[in-house]
Amino acid sequence: MELLKKYHIPVWVMEPLRGGRLAKLTGEEEAWLKAMRPDEAIPAWAFRFLQSIPEVTVVLSGMSNMEQMKENIRTFQEEKPLSGEEKKNLLAMADEMVRKIVLPCTACHYCVSHCPRGLDIPALLALYNEHYFTGGGFIAPMALSSYPTDKLPSACIGCRSCEAVCPQQIKVSEAMADFTEKLKV
Ligand code: SF4
Ligand code: SF4
Repeated sequence: MELLKKYHIPVWVMEPLRGGRLAKLTGEEEAWLKAMRPDEAIPAWAFRFLQSIPEVTVVLSGMSNMEQMKENIRTFQEEKPLSGEEKKNLLAMADEMVRKIVLPCTACHYCVSHCPRGLDIPALLALYNEHYFTGGGFIAPMALSSYPTDKLPSACIGCRSCEAVCPQQIKVSEAMADFTEKLKV
């Protein structure tokens, strides 16, 4: 951030709602946000967070209908950046959301040399987590479209050599099989 400030580099943010995931919260998560700002629309929180980062000059948010467009226009008619306390609460909530659903791959790469198919396991698990978190957004399929077929999750043969060395005891073979199924949808 310091470099961005120093050289006045503008920052563009794509997918601020993570494929719509941040607009669809649980009742408990929504209640947490409503307690801080009762009148703020749920999707607006991601935008208010970005309004709290002065370096962000462009926010590119996909919209699928007129109502979403109207709501986004309403949101951006006002600058309402988060207070320090609100930001702290929001980041705590984000931590909790991520903790619940992701595979805890630390990208240590211990497993990579053990894979007979030469898969980039940590990269694939990062995309799996992304896909899981967004409930099937377009980011993972788009990233995987540049992978050769023999490096996709479907190339996993389920040998579990990677699992034998994973310090996080991640069931990689199950994740690859599940990812392959999810990508078919
Ligand atoms: S289970 Fe799959 S990802 Fe793991 S080592 Fe075997 S082929 Fe590679
Ligand atoms: S060994 Fe486990 S934690 Fe490390 S990169 Fe592989 S899957 Fe991730």
